[in-house]
Amino acid sequence: NASGRKLPLQVLVAAPRGFCAGVDRAIEIVEKAIERYGAPVYVRHEIVHNRFVVEGLKQKGAIFVEELDEVPDGVPVVFSAHGVPKAVPAEAEQRGLDYLDATCPLVSKVHRQAERQIEKGRHILFIGHEGHPEVIGTMGQVEPGEMTLVETLEDVEKLPFTQDDALGFLTQTTLSVDDTADIVEALRVRYPQIVGPKAEDICYATSNRQAAVKEIAPGADLVLVIGAPNSSNSVRLVEVAERCGTDAKLIQRAENIDPAWLEGVGTLGLTAGASAPELLVREVLDKLSEWREVELLKVKTAEEKMVFKLPRQLMD
Ligand code: SF4
Repeated sequence: NASGRKLPLQVLVAAPRGFCAGVDRAIEIVEKAIERYGAPVYVRHEIVHNRFVVEGLKQKGAIFVEELDEVPDGVPVVFSAHGVPKAVPAEAEQRGLDYLDATCPLVSKVHRQAERQIEKGRHILFIGHEGHPEVIGTMGQVEPGEMTLVETLEDVEKLPFTQDDALGFLTQTTLSVDDTADIVEALRVRYPQIVGPKAEDICYATSNRQAAVKEIAPGADLVLVIGAPNSSNSVRLVEVAERCGTDAKLIQRAENIDPAWLEGVGTLGLTAGASAPELLVREVLDKLSEWREVELLKVKTAEEKMVFKLPRQLMD
């Protein structure tokens, strides 16, 4: 401002935020694979949806490709945290490729649930976002025609099934907790016979991060979510903040912050999606401190202690 003194800015930092156990594990798998097999190690699809993470791993010797046919024979390949259709490991085996599966165990759990539903003779209604790699991977656990994607309440209305059909439902792990509850409710109303998972498929990290945003957003003038536009759980965090009536922006790095956004903002909420490293949170706080007198307030709504084991090939 004109006096040269920085205006105060209260920053409510959400916790939990950032890396989840599945992302931690996926990154460690790539790092350990490079240590063990030497570079290059191929990775099919962005290991997690974060450019910063991907660039870091590239520098260590990872090569990212979209499809297996881009992987030369004789080099190890890692499958991303989002999971892959069954055809992918099958093709890798056929080619004799050493592969490491970094699919998050909570996604693999949904894959097994899908198999079980099919064994029981049910058609599966899968709640998820079309085109997301996790959705492609989960739908690829069953034969074409055994699973129908449901994205919205309107999709539920249009389903061709009757109350006599054997039906089950499953969900993507990174959905909006509230939207999904509405869709599941609509499915249960239309198909009272439908069978779902005992505990919901939305993962602990997704629901904890959304709950934390619900805590900070109502008292904030603006919420910044650090995450990539193709990161499902990050985009959901923006929506959750907006539903609290607060403006929210998705940013990948501190440099994406437009100082004009902060005009008239006295309290800012800050969080990060499950694939965004804590370093980027630091970077954003440093940037904010260049412009404003930042007062940090941590808002913690849950404790996370989840850790997943590495694949057998990488355990000593
Ligand atoms: Fe696993 Fe959830 Fe993290 Fe996805 S967001 S990697 S499902 S823990």
